[in-house]
Amino acid sequence: MKKKREWAAYVRRVTPYVPGEQPNETDMIKLNTNENPYPPSPSVFEVHRNMDVTDFSLYPELSAGSLTRSLANYHGISDREVFVGVGSDDVLSLAFLTFFNSEKPILFPDITYSFYPVWADVYRISYECMPLRDDFTIEADDYQRENGGIVIANPNAPTSIGMPALEIEKVIRANPGVVVIIDEAYVDFGGETVLPLIKQYDNLLVVRTYSKSRSLAGMRIGYAMGSEGLIQALNDVKESINSYTMNTASIRIGIASLGDEDYFQSTLQKVMDTRKRTKSALEQMGFDVKDSQTNFLFASHRTVAAEEIFEQLKRRHIYVRYFAKERIKDYLRITVGTEVQMDRFLQAVREIIGTF
Ligand SMILES: *Cc1c(COP(=O)(O)O)cnc(C)c1O
Repeated sequence: MKKKREWAAYVRRVTPYVPGEQPNETDMIKLNTNENPYPPSPSVFEVHRNMDVTDFSLYPELSAGSLTRSLANYHGISDREVFVGVGSDDVLSLAFLTFFNSEKPILFPDITYSFYPVWADVYRISYECMPLRDDFTIEADDYQRENGGIVIANPNAPTSIGMPALEIEKVIRANPGVVVIIDEAYVDFGGETVLPLIKQYDNLLVVRTYSKSRSLAGMRIGYAMGSEGLIQALNDVKESINSYTMNTASIRIGIASLGDEDYFQSTLQKVMDTRKRTKSALEQMGFDVKDSQTNFLFASHRTVAAEEIFEQLKRRHIYVRYFAKERIKDYLRITVGTEVQMDRFLQAVREIIGTF
């Protein structure tokens, strides 16, 4: 007789987030997870080369102290206003756990980073999705209703559209009783930050990542900035789960990246230039392309189905992202790669569309 799995009744049931594929083909062009096509700064290479592996026998610094201080310096705030975590996914999930404990639902847009509903589910937080306007912009007035907290990605993903800081401030000002999280994963590519507002609003948490603009997705470094009260609360919860989340190598590499502002700005500029060129090329081929303030484009062809283009690109080992979700099923999300990668991508799209 088959033994009954009695423990199954006590398992936390969740439907996990599905990230973009990580294929490993030598000839592939990977434009599906918004990674940066350029390598990390030369200063990162140097710190990595000189790392003393014997240091790894010790636990890392508590609260990633030296990285926290470097980030505070870089942004001109106090180190008691910075919290560092293992990628911004770690920071955001911990923020959900720490701040979203109200009976009322939290609010976020219907089309946004698809990890938000997953964290809400795993932590048993109720939520309501506020529909984007028809042009995929966020309506600030939708966030005036009663709620248990708010999370907004700005610029938003996968739409690539930025929301003006003044509009975000309306949302923060209308909700002094709950924490408002602004996920600025893409802000370095031309978005408007609300970071200065943390001095004015103690309920604002701004979250950033090294994964996109700093070419360090593999090191897993993310951080949050906010009032001392918010940061203390995050630290208390983190230290009740795992004291040493940030490893020694990531801490040192995170500091090194901050020290090379010229390289940082020049790679951002390259991505933004390529974005502009790719957008016009796509428009000439009959795509509607949203105005992007990120390192990706959100594009829909006037006649050829997005899923069809997605599948045919994949056959040519060119990976973009497609979401089979009602409002955005006609769109492709295309990460901005190097000039050479985008030329190959555009050529493939031209061929695919030509067959219809
Ligand atoms: C990529 C991304 C993140 C997570 O990035 P990490 O690699 O975990 O730092 C968070 N929010 C948005 C909107 C993203 O696109």
